[in-house]
Amino acid sequence: MSRSLIAYLLLTNRNAHAKIVSRRLSTVDKKQIIQSLIRGAVSDFSLEGKIAIITGGSRGIGRSIALGYANAGADVVIVSRTQEDVERVAEEAEAFGARSLGLPVDVTNSTSVRQMTEKILDTFGRIDVLVNNAGISPVYTNVLKVKEEDWDRIIDVNLKAPFLCCQAVGRAMVEQNEGKVINIASVGATTGLPKFIAYCASKGGLVQITRVLASEWATNNIQVNAIAPGYVETDMTSGLDETPWLKEDIIQRTPMERLAQPDEVVGAAIFLASQASSYITGHILYVDGGWSAA
Ligand code: NDP
Repeated sequence: MSRSLIAYLLLTNRNAHAKIVSRRLSTVDKKQIIQSLIRGAVSDFSLEGKIAIITGGSRGIGRSIALGYANAGADVVIVSRTQEDVERVAEEAEAFGARSLGLPVDVTNSTSVRQMTEKILDTFGRIDVLVNNAGISPVYTNVLKVKEEDWDRIIDVNLKAPFLCCQAVGRAMVEQNEGKVINIASVGATTGLPKFIAYCASKGGLVQITRVLASEWATNNIQVNAIAPGYVETDMTSGLDETPWLKEDIIQRTPMERLAQPDEVVGAAIFLASQASSYITGHILYVDGGWSAA
């Protein structure tokens, strides 16, 4: 009988045979078996040997996810438009013993996204995890004042770019019959936040991309999920310091009565990239201090 089966039977006390085995084992043996079972479960969260791309990985939530992945054993590719920023985070990731690559790419450009994918495949040979995190929220204004060019810019970065990345990287994942895609959505995907029309529309669309691809790639062993953060303290939300009444409003609306730190999104991102989430696809995981529950 394998150690894990013995441990399972010991824990659940399921059958007569387990009871006999259990009587024969010393307490120390039982402890060791159960500890090895727990170690096995924890190792399901490891990203050892995985190759992960994080778009918008140069700062904020993306940087935290990139460094969290490196710490969990993955090799990481950091993508954003600014060369020195991606190189800096790639260097930080190497401190965890990870191989890393910083690529300056505008993810709204389909040619650049295709070239990015080829470069990563040439360097690492495969891509296991794609985190579509790059995003913008430059406009906070009444729908009647939203400019067409602002609408287009937000939709391009937050909705078209994840589609382009999924298409380019997904091709490789389908070929290797394995992969994980994690789309960083927002509570604005399912809540109508006033004065955020383009942002909410883009994130709602991203949730639908998540569901369509989860269904389409379910039999290709590719799991596609989304994380929907509440408000997180990053450059994107730094403008809230100039509108303290709005920040206070958000805090009051959040059951945990505070904004999140970028590192608080990392656990969910590791879970969804790891073997521990092997039967989860098409799911929206809220990391929102209770926002969506209230
Ligand atoms: P930041 O503004 O801190 O970082 C955004 C990142 O995206 C940067 O690395 C930026 O780098 C990159 N980026 C922007 N445009 C492009 C582009 N065209 N091509 C490649 N990279 C690009 O944002 P956050 O960390 O706050 O947000 C990350 C994600 O989380 C976004 O999708 C956001 O919508 C989402 N989110 C954020 C919340 C928050 O409260 N902060 C709440 C809910 C969701 P560069 O400008 O150099 O290209």
